[in-house]
Amino acid sequence: MARYIGPVCKLCRRDGTKLYLKGARCFSEKCSVTRRPYPPGQHGQGRIKMSEYGLRLREKQKVRRIYGVLEKQFRGYYASASALRGRTGEEMLGLLERRLDNVVHRMGFAATRRQARQLVRHNHLLINGKRVNIPSYRVNPGDKIEVREKSKKIAYIQAAIALTDSRPTPTWLEVDREKLEGVFKSMPARDELNEPSLREQYVVEYYSR
Ligand code: SF4
Repeated sequence: MARYIGPVCKLCRRDGTKLYLKGARCFSEKCSVTRRPYPPGQHGQGRIKMSEYGLRLREKQKVRRIYGVLEKQFRGYYASASALRGRTGEEMLGLLERRLDNVVHRMGFAATRRQARQLVRHNHLLINGKRVNIPSYRVNPGDKIEVREKSKKIAYIQAAIALTDSRPTPTWLEVDREKLEGVFKSMPARDELNEPSLREQYVVEYYSR
């Protein structure tokens, strides 16, 4: 599946909020949203009047970019979520949270979801003892995810782990940072996923217009 390879700080500036796409830099004063808090481009500092449609479009783009998914695949998540019993927006976030690259990032083995994606693609991970290299792989509650023995010394994994020292592990995961392994215990509750604040209802309204 294709992926976005352009500049990421522009995406945050376009959405007017930190999307945390660059690891340590996002927490430093070098963050572009802090330094240039207006949209990119020649008219970025002009007056912007957001329409109702624009609001929903921006929210959809924000969620899509946070999870690093392109439009076609993201629309697929929406379609799958609408076929489920619960509230479509929440179901969609649940499906996105179960992506293997997201879980690896949440566990702290990668500083960003992009880096987690690379980790997965380069065969550094095992799920329940088996090698999986598909970033969109849907993790199930109870699955054990571990970094392969021969990959544990990789510098960027160690740097990512060092970054998580000050961050608590999400409640729906169990992580052993020494052994570089963890378990996806259960689906996260909606109110545990609020960073940055997501308005998934807008995404649903965008696709159902
Ligand atoms: Fe760039 Fe991270 Fe700041 Fe976004 S939050 S603008 S990715 S440094």
